[in-house]
Formats: sequence, structure tokens, C-alpha cells
Amino acid sequence: MTLKIPFDNSYARLPDAFYARQAPVPVRAPQLIAFNADLARLLDIAPGDVHELAETFAGNALPAGAEPLAQLYSGHQFGNYNPQLGDGRAVLLGETVGTDGVRRDIQLKGSGPTLFSRQGDGRAWLGPVLREYVVSEAMHALGIQTTRALAAVETGEIVLREGPMPGAVLTRVARSHLRVGTFQVFAARGQIDSLRRLTEYAIARHYPQAEGPMGLLRAVRDAQAQLIASWMSVGFIHGVMNTDNCSVAGETIDYGPCAFLDSYHPNTVYSSIDRAGRYAYSNQPDIAVWNVAQLATALIQQMEDKEAAVEEATEIVHAMPDLLQQNWLARFQAKIGLTTTRDGDQELISDLLVRMAQNQADFTNTFRALGTDKARDQFTDPLAFDEWAVGWQARLSHEEAPTEVMQAANPAFIPRNHRVEQMIEAAVQGDYSPFHRLNTVLAQPFSDQPENADLTRPPLESEVVQATFCGT
Ligand code: AMP
Ligand code: MG
Repeated sequence: MTLKIPFDNSYARLPDAFYARQAPVPVRAPQLIAFNADLARLLDIAPGDVHELAETFAGNALPAGAEPLAQLYSGHQFGNYNPQLGDGRAVLLGETVGTDGVRRDIQLKGSGPTLFSRQGDGRAWLGPVLREYVVSEAMHALGIQTTRALAAVETGEIVLREGPMPGAVLTRVARSHLRVGTFQVFAARGQIDSLRRLTEYAIARHYPQAEGPMGLLRAVRDAQAQLIASWMSVGFIHGVMNTDNCSVAGETIDYGPCAFLDSYHPNTVYSSIDRAGRYAYSNQPDIAVWNVAQLATALIQQMEDKEAAVEEATEIVHAMPDLLQQNWLARFQAKIGLTTTRDGDQELISDLLVRMAQNQADFTNTFRALGTDKARDQFTDPLAFDEWAVGWQARLSHEEAPTEVMQAANPAFIPRNHRVEQMIEAAVQGDYSPFHRLNTVLAQPFSDQPENADLTRPPLESEVVQATFCGT
């Protein structure tokens, strides 16, 4: 083996209660689809040849130093507590400390059944693997905190979903896979020693300045408030903001039925399993507060003085909506070219968004076109934009370099849902060129790339994706 991963596995040194040791289950005929060489360098991985990469990231060959395990967690799914989830189709191979000094998990997803698989087959099919690869790397290029994709491998096996589908394994990299649900499982079971141990671990790994459980709560609140504001600013809808998909490190995690807005409407929902719209675009800030409140409830269980803890935790959680609002405002101010704050900014932005919703304006293209004569063309009634622009121009007279600010805040390229679907359809037919093209273009989302202008186009009526399934 020339492939070398400098493992240092802190999670595997925690007590047995935190996980079940589990090797990935080998697959029939691994074929490498993609390997993220830039990310590998950051992780200090010495890559091997294509054959080795395929064998390793399919789970057929265990790299030296790996200590594979499936992590235990629980969580609220669509508001209902599920007492035991856990990695049902993933194993953590271990951790590396990157060239930037950051410790990261390396996890195989789709690597076979574990103790936590329940009714599931432990596998993933190609579609969600490629979706997560493309969208998580695009989010990273957009400057949004996210897990990343190190590799994708076809397994040469069939996975049964809506029909027979090609199987695949994704190698996911994360600052950690600690979730709100990781705390919930020990709190719900009254395993207070484990809860304390986990709290210490999370603080040491992610927030060394945080003091005690309430310090951790404050830090996670701040990270989530930043994260959700960043999602809102690019029109990202996660789709399944369950507490088991809410990262303690503040990264976007678990790309299932996620998608970006095309035409702007605050109530947009993409996931076909989210019938009530719990995880609609505009609900995401409220849900993030709800998730942090669940973390608070779990963390409190370890406090000696419960009454005082409840009071402090309540104060911490109640401050989150304002924090979210401040972060949201700062991001949307930049999107319309503002670096200073004046009375009326919030109303100016909201007025634009209302007009966009009424005029089916494309979210990404409208903001990208601000300051050009193309912005008004995004509106079914361009006068709706012109009216708004009068007040905006007046406000801009107090700004120095609004064009530069907007260019840096408004991407030209996002992974549009219809392009992601087309890419998956092609890959299932064996054509990976759309997958590679999306990765290349989306790596530079803020540069215009006129030769790739077709990827900025909203879907034609015939291209609109009718349902984004959770069938992962
Ligand atoms: P997710 O929707 O990916 O966040 O997964 C929710 C829970 O279901 C987690 O505990 C997963 O490990 C589990 N799960 C999802 N798909 C499968 C599968 N194909 N086999 C086993 N467990 C699964
Ligand atoms: Mg999940």
C-alpha cells in the first residue's frame, strides 16, 4: 500500500458505550468515481493508485491505523423523539489532524449494516452519493461550513430502492460527527457519566474556550446561528433538519433531499417526506432554535443545580433568534452591497424579497444581477424592481464599493436541483461527465465563467424536479 492516512483516533479511545466496533462490509467490484486530491492534501493523506483508492474507499481494504466503528446517537425526527438511531450505514474509519491543525473524521457512508441498521440494508445508491459529493463541495466553495467529500466509489452491487439502483460509497470528512442527538441519547437514558464525558470531549475538540456544559451550549448556538444565516443567504434548503442531522461543530451535515431555491418563495419545500413544510426555507431559523433547545434539555441533565441550569439555558436559547436575525441581516446587507448599517436596511431587504416572491424572481440570478440592467428582467413585472431600486440607489450613495461587496456575496453558480438530477440520470447510464463538470464549475462559484452560462439558467418547466426523495 502506498496510500497512507495518518490516523489518530480520539473517538475510538472513548468508552464502549459511545459506539459499536464495526468493519466496513466488502463489496463485489469497487470502481473509483472521484477522489478529492485537494482535500486529501489538507488531511495529510498520501494517495495511492486508483486501485488502492477504490479498494480503500469502498471498505474492501482497511488502511493501516483505521479503527472502524459505528457511532451511537438518537434524535428528534420531524419533531418526534426516536430513542435509537446511530450509524446504520456508515462507519467512522478514524481521524486525522490536517496540515491546518484541524482534527477531522473520515467516514464511509453506505459501507454495510451495523448494530444500528434497524430495517435498513446499510447501503447507499449512486444518486444520493453523487448529490452529497457535488452539493457539499459546492457549499464549501461558497464559503459555508460543511462536511466534505473525499471520495466516491461504485460498489458493483445493486441496491433496492424505488427500483434496482447501482450501489455506491461516499467518503465523508467532518470536523466531527457529533450531533445534538449524540447528547440526547445519553441524556434520555440517564447515562450521566457518558453525557459528562461527551460534553468534555466536545468542548476539548471544538470549543476549548467554552466553560462547562452551558459554555458549550452557547458555542453551539453561535455556530448554528452563523450556519443557518449562511444557508439563507444562498437559498439553501437542508430538507431534514432533525436533531440527529444538527452538527455540534456547526457544519452542514447529511445531505438528503436538499436543494437550492430557483425562483424565490419563502415557503419552498423540496423534500417529498416533509408534507407539513416543517423544514421549509423560511422555517429553518426557527427549527435551528428548536434543535438548540433540545441540546439544552440534554445538557442540563448533568448539572448539579438543575434550577439554575434551566434558567441559564433558557436565557442562552432565547437569545438565539436575535443572533440569527443579526447574522441574517449582515449577510443580506452584503448581498445588496451594504457594509454599514442604517435604519431601514432590514425593511429594504424584506421589500426586495417580497417583490421577488410576487414576481417569481430567481433567487441567485436576481442578486447576482444587482447593479446591472439585467436585474429587472428577473421579475415578471420589471417595474416592481424599478420601484424598489429607487430607494436602494439612494441607500447605496452611502457606500464605497458596493459592486465588489455584491460580487463577493452573490454567487453566479449554485448546484441547481435540475442539474443535479440530470447529473445523476447520466451517471446511472455510466456517463460521469456532468458530475465532473459540475464539480469543476461549482469550485469557482463567484467567477462568471461565460462558457458555463447554461448552468446559471433556472429550470425549464419540463426540467423542474417534481419531488426530491429521501430514498437515500
Ligand atoms: P438519515 O436520513 O441519513 O439522516 O438517516 C437517519 C437514520 O436512518 C440514521 O440512523 C441512519 O443511519 C439510518 N439509515 C438511513 N438509511 C439507512 C440504510 N439504508 N440502512 C441502514 N440504516 C439507514
Ligand atoms: Mg442523519
